Amino acid sequence: MKKLVLDLDETLLYSTTESISPECVKLSAQGSDFYTMLRPGVRDFLQNVAKKFECTIWSTGQQAYLEAVWEYIGVPGFTLWGRGFCKKIETTDGSEPYEKPLRQITDDLSQIVLVDNTPSLFAKCPLNGILTRTWRGDMNDTELRHLAVYLDWLNAQPSMQRNHENWRIETLCLRNCQ
Ligand SMILES: [Mg+2]
Repeated sequence: MKKLVLDLDETLLYSTTESISPECVKLSAQGSDFYTMLRPGVRDFLQNVAKKFECTIWSTGQQAYLEAVWEYIGVPGFTLWGRGFCKKIETTDGSEPYEKPLRQITDDLSQIVLVDNTPSLFAKCPLNGILTRTWRGDMNDTELRHLAVYLDWLNAQPSMQRNHENWRIETLCLRNCQ
């Protein structure tokens, strides 16, 4: 089974310290309250990919936060990796100070992809990164629906390593050919 790594924040959901929408749900981790809203279609998306891939949620957030959010989402079949599994790197420009080295999951990079809204995380594995639009609460967003079509197609390819830059346009072509 091929491996799928999904980022959490601003890819699958959006968390804030104050409620910004009626869609926000109040959650708590290690004594701190926060509010989380889910990207449209996220549960359907997760149930779908869990059947087809070996899935890891890899977040730069704290493990306790990730686990609290996942309990709320309630979709089983995911390995949960928080900040402790990330590699800390030195940055001088305020960019993401963590890496998600895919080789911690497998040495065969042809059989794994990372879906993330932070492009710098693809620096060491440019052919393994699918960039999603940063999501901060737009309830008209359709990204996950399109991504599911692309991942289905990708799963059928011998190698998942490729230039994923135009994945949205390619997905439109796939839909029109079906
Ligand atoms: Mg993110």
